[in-house]
Amino acid sequence: MPSREDIACRCGCGFAAFDWELKFILEHVAHQFGTSATVTSGCRCRARNEREKGSKNSYHLRGMAVDFFVPGISVEDVYAFLCFSFPEKYEIIIYDTIVHVAIQDSPERIDFRSKKVGV
Ligand SMILES: [Zn+2]
Ligand SMILES: [Zn+2]
Repeated sequence: MPSREDIACRCGCGFAAFDWELKFILEHVAHQFGTSATVTSGCRCRARNEREKGSKNSYHLRGMAVDFFVPGISVEDVYAFLCFSFPEKYEIIIYDTIVHVAIQDSPERIDFRSKKVGV
């Protein structure tokens, strides 16, 4: 289970209202790969979101998105597993080193890797 520090806004403002569904997703991932995900960005206040160059309406602002990687596992494998596990929902974005998942009713898949190779 991710700790409060893992998902709290990194600026130290204390914002840590994290959607329970994201915790479930992280648990699901940890269970599959046998190791915990490392959260690189969870909740973000406005100031932090600007510093991280997040979009204006970022799901991170509402505690409804998480960026993470799984140590020792390629982002392609994590991304493929997420798409396989949740075919009908969530915004799932693959970057070079992390995967972003946001709680959204409709499925949306985006590839922001610098080199697009097979997923
Ligand atoms: Zn903050
Ligand atoms: Zn994100």
